[in-house]
Amino acid sequence: MPRRAVFLDRDGTLVEEAGYLDRLERLVFFPYSVDAVRVLNRAGLAVVIVTNQAGIARGIFKETFVAEAHRHITERLAAGGARVDAFYYCPHHPEAVIETYRQSCDCRKPQPGLLKRAAADLDLALDQSFVVGDRWHDLEAGQRVGARGVLVRTGYGRTEEATPHPRVVPSAIVNNVMEAVSWILRAS
Ligand SMILES: [Mg+2]
Ligand SMILES: [Zn+2]
Repeated sequence: MPRRAVFLDRDGTLVEEAGYLDRLERLVFFPYSVDAVRVLNRAGLAVVIVTNQAGIARGIFKETFVAEAHRHITERLAAGGARVDAFYYCPHHPEAVIETYRQSCDCRKPQPGLLKRAAADLDLALDQSFVVGDRWHDLEAGQRVGARGVLVRTGYGRTEEATPHPRVVPSAIVNNVMEAVSWILRAS
């Protein structure tokens, strides 16, 4: 039977928003991030990181750095007894300086391509799943596949909250990813 999942945005949601996160020193967890993921693990929900990484397309860092950052996140979570089921990222941008990444892809949020790929790989029920993010485009990607969206006020979240999106209807707006997890467990 397909599992329910929580799709977590990375920058501004699981870790501090750092502009283009291009060095491990700039990868800073929120103090409650590990706990939030562990609570989801114990509740039996799949946890999937979905992140736009246009810094690759812009030549600011390479895919190998993103892999390194995700290894670091995995280790940090493991140290706290938490784990994510998978990481998915979009390396593309329509105006990429690096030609191989220059495309209007189906995976850059608000497109739902990463969510669909994860659902196929991990057998997830998108319409019973949740997206947590600090940008409307995170929630829009979820909305396009029937997942409920929770906006967090960390990262760009406060700014986003102040400028409602014409099409995106959040299921909840909360202070941070830990509060998002609490909301999801009550709602599911
Ligand atoms: Mg973000
Ligand atoms: Zn893409």
